Amino acid sequence: MDKGKQRLVILGAAESGVGAALLGKQKGWEVFVSDGGAIKENFKDVLSQNGIAFEEGGHTVDEILNAACVVKSPGISDKTAIMKQVRAARIEVCSEIEFGFRYKGDSKIIAITGSNGKSTTTKLTYHILKQADYNVAMVGNIGYSFARQIAEQPCEWYVMEVSSFQLDDIHQFRPDVAVLLNITPDHLDRYDYKFENYVASKFRITENQTAADYFVLNKDDKAIQQYLTTHTTHANKIYFTMDENNRDKEGGHISDSRLFIQYDGDTMDMSIHDLAIKGKHNQYNSMAAGISARLAGIRKEKIRESFSGFEGLEHRLEYVATVRGVEFINDSKATNVNSVWFALESMTKPVILIMGGQDKGNDYTEILELVKEKVKAIVCMGIDNTPIHDFFDKVTDTIIDTKNATDAVNAAYALAENGDVVLLAPACASFDVFKNYEDRGQQFKQAVRNL
Ligand code: ADP
Repeated sequence: MDKGKQRLVILGAAESGVGAALLGKQKGWEVFVSDGGAIKENFKDVLSQNGIAFEEGGHTVDEILNAACVVKSPGISDKTAIMKQVRAARIEVCSEIEFGFRYKGDSKIIAITGSNGKSTTTKLTYHILKQADYNVAMVGNIGYSFARQIAEQPCEWYVMEVSSFQLDDIHQFRPDVAVLLNITPDHLDRYDYKFENYVASKFRITENQTAADYFVLNKDDKAIQQYLTTHTTHANKIYFTMDENNRDKEGGHISDSRLFIQYDGDTMDMSIHDLAIKGKHNQYNSMAAGISARLAGIRKEKIRESFSGFEGLEHRLEYVATVRGVEFINDSKATNVNSVWFALESMTKPVILIMGGQDKGNDYTEILELVKEKVKAIVCMGIDNTPIHDFFDKVTDTIIDTKNATDAVNAAYALAENGDVVLLAPACASFDVFKNYEDRGQQFKQAVRNL
């Protein structure tokens, strides 16, 4: 699919933009990269080394509106001035996964989306395929972008973490296996504050699938079930559920503390206590990954073995240390209310909860009962803690305000007694105080080590 010297403009020069630029250049496009902010040095080096023209700190409109195709970074909203102009000029707009898809050849894709659990499930699925010696790469938010992987080291299989923003600009993108883990409110600022827009965006993962493809999805999720009452998919649906009475002949379910995966007349099962990653949410993630691996042709023994050997990811319910009988857990990646629900649900000791940050219009009703039941005190960690006070002042006796990780950890430690757990599960974005959720998690862990 050589495009001669047609012009490809990439908006946003981070991992996905640089990946699309490299692939475009390799496939014969005339590539121009434009970033409204500063481009990181390592990405600039890659662009320069590959002779790719770029600008930063602003967009030169004339250099952009002559494009045949625009690849837009998932971070750029359609509401920006430049995107309004691109849309008005009726230029084709692709997300990076769409662009990569056009050059993927015969390779196969397992694409994983959902509000929570994408990274964990992607890494677990990749781990299983890798253990089975598949020629596989993990792409998307973890690892290289899809386009960069295709440009630099194409594989037979891709396990891909897909966000709703990446799905917003697909046209032909069609995964062989699509996984939809769950849908709970998040990022609503990008969807005109309409939950149904966000739901529809997630479902686009299946829109180009055919009867030859599979759609693996959560049967217990209300938003998913609701959407399916009025919409269909051409793919073969395979469900996972916690409710054994609601299970289908094929799919995943939990029964008597055992995880089952049934497919193609064959049943795999194992104790949930043998799963390396703990918590109910990880049982969902494991079912989704296990079904995907079976669909990819992997034997059940290999899946079982991979489940027990898999190490979770940093910043997701990560055990940090126990200091004088007080356990510290880092769940910095819990950036929405639903992930905090699962974090609290899996706690077995009294909790001092460190939460707060940049509020996304959170409704805390979902965690109210669990907070009443398990949380002794809340330590707010953020610039503006008003939303947390507004909701929890009447519920929790002790709510303390702090503005950085050291103060938050010290305050939580002072409140905690032997046998308690201090849980960082913010329910908010980190950008008011930290660079990102990783920085927040690192600073939390450092503060614990300093105790
Ligand atoms: P994502 O990539 O979708 O953000 P992660 O795997 O990074 O997902 O996990 C994000 C947060 O959500 C973490 O706090 C994690 O403990 C929690 N989580 C993981 N899987 C699920 C799930 N299936 N349902 C709800 N919360 C989950």
